[in-house]
Amino acid sequence: MPARSDRGLRVLVVANQKGGVGKTTTAINLGTALAAVGEKVLLIDSDPQGNASTGLGIGRALRKKTLYDVLMGEQPLLEAVVKTSVPGLDLIPSDPDLSGVELELGQQARRSFKLRDAIAPVRDAGAYTYILIDCPPSLNLLTVNAMAASDAVLVPLQCEFFALEGLTQLMRTIDLVRGSLNPALELQGVVLTMYDRRNSLSEQVASDVRSHFGDAVYQTVIPRNVRVSEAPSFGKPVLVYDLKCSGSQAYLKLAREVVLRERKRRAPQLELS
Ligand code: ADP
Ligand code: MG
Repeated sequence: MPARSDRGLRVLVVANQKGGVGKTTTAINLGTALAAVGEKVLLIDSDPQGNASTGLGIGRALRKKTLYDVLMGEQPLLEAVVKTSVPGLDLIPSDPDLSGVELELGQQARRSFKLRDAIAPVRDAGAYTYILIDCPPSLNLLTVNAMAASDAVLVPLQCEFFALEGLTQLMRTIDLVRGSLNPALELQGVVLTMYDRRNSLSEQVASDVRSHFGDAVYQTVIPRNVRVSEAPSFGKPVLVYDLKCSGSQAYLKLAREVVLRERKRRAPQLELS
């Protein structure tokens, strides 16, 4: 096994155009769990609502330089990095200006590659082993930039009746990005979120999703857990707020699965358990 720094950087985008499915929660807590197992993680908040920034305790006053400045070419990516309270987890914050990017970039050449171009110098620098990108709830230019910049997509899916609706559109967008901007884009996996085992609908949705997506669905299911929803108001990942709760434990398991998939991808001939 090569030293961690030799393994290179993987860029994962957390995407689903539906709002409230657990994208931000997953980005924050998967990022924290990866940092906890020794990865060096940069979380890029690519939602103008800035929930990932707030949820990590980076209030507006601390957002001096943001993703907006980076995408507009005014700051190199590393200049906009903010340390979080979690060792090994850094953040590129966002603010409402980010919603203007679509209009401001207009028909500029490479408008879809702004994030990819910004990440390029960081790829070989060795400062990070994972970049996670938290997307807005739409398939707009920000999401397209995130997909064009990424190696793989991680899709959170809420265990509710309409879960599969809209996924066709997401998969079509991924295909479009593969066909034009980023042929190498992979599906890292689909994670079921807010699973409620007292609710038979959750189980039904989970089995539908598994029969539709097969092995792409992680074994780990994120349970609905009130501690997970409380944590952001304290500006903390749930793993810091309450490590023992079921939500934290699930995100630690998810991180292990994500890392395992990455290792298998790098060395498919090795049987890793
Ligand atoms: P998105 O980024 O996709 O819009 P969020 O991550 O912001 O979704 O989650 C939507 C809401 O659901 C938030 O209030 C969040 O705290 C809550 N939530 C997310 N995951 C869980 C969970 N596993 N258990 C309980 N509440 C959750
Ligand atoms: Mg969000």
